[in-house]
Amino acid sequence: MTGIALAIHGGCGVMSQDTMTAEEWDGARRDMAAALRAGYAQLKAGRHAIDAVEAAVLVMEDSAHFNAGHGAALNENGVHELDASIMNGATLEAGAISASRAIRNPIKAARVLMEDGRAVYLTGPAADRFAQEKGLQLEPQSYFTTPKRVEALAAMKRHAAAGTEASENEKHGTVGAVALDAAGHLAAATSTGGYTNKPDGRVGDSPVIGAGTYARDGVCAVSGTGKGELFIRYVLGHEIASRIAYLKQDIATAAEGLINEDLARHQIGAGLIAIDAEGVIVAPYNTPGMFRGWVTPEGRAFVATHEEVHEVELF
Ligand code: ASP
Repeated sequence: MTGIALAIHGGCGVMSQDTMTAEEWDGARRDMAAALRAGYAQLKAGRHAIDAVEAAVLVMEDSAHFNAGHGAALNENGVHELDASIMNGATLEAGAISASRAIRNPIKAARVLMEDGRAVYLTGPAADRFAQEKGLQLEPQSYFTTPKRVEALAAMKRHAAAGTEASENEKHGTVGAVALDAAGHLAAATSTGGYTNKPDGRVGDSPVIGAGTYARDGVCAVSGTGKGELFIRYVLGHEIASRIAYLKQDIATAAEGLINEDLARHQIGAGLIAIDAEGVIVAPYNTPGMFRGWVTPEGRAFVATHEEVHEVELF
């Protein structure tokens, strides 16, 4: 038996406090606390880490405050194409859905695909058909759209026309969870709408096993957020695991090295959450903020967006 631990993120696109209303900040914190509760309840009940990460991500997919599921980003054609993946560190089984236009909860589809076992990746219309065949809920595109995402796309188009740079807030979002269960198993899950104004058919790092999502018992579990192309090129999740396993780095050194040194060179926004086999949690980011939350081994829960950390009730 080991201690249980859980961490979540809601993307590294957090900007200055005045870009959101007080209600929006409260709502985002409330929904992160709900995600922590959902995930932690699974761990507390003695269930597998995979159940905890799925439950936590599900809550954030259903929240309009994060770029996944309801409230996901729009691509260049004003279409939602959703990516998600999940990985079981105990067995290295994984499932990933990409470019889905209709699955209400892509993380559920990723989990069902993992259990189905015939494929790790399903994409586009085939992913939507798979979800439907498995009895998962599909939605019209309008379900995923929020006024904030419509405005973000318009802002990105304006930036493109004017040749100006978009803010980190307009660019980044994604949700994820990592967990260690009482039996010592690790798991990771990530879900996203990608970035606003992304190319039609573009697949990011979130559904790429080893890049935006990775878990391996005895080593670590990782979920990333930020410019996905770089996470793919660095095979970021697997790179962190490799530095821990082969270079014998601790998780903070490995994760911070990737974010603050390797990725920093490319001047892109990036962040991640990671947990090691002892339940040590790290959440480095190089943007002004990152939506994040975690539960300590003593069962205390915290959420944060910038430096300030808020304790929240678990039960
Ligand atoms: N990593 C996500 C992607 O590239 C987006 C983000 O987290 O900002 O699709």
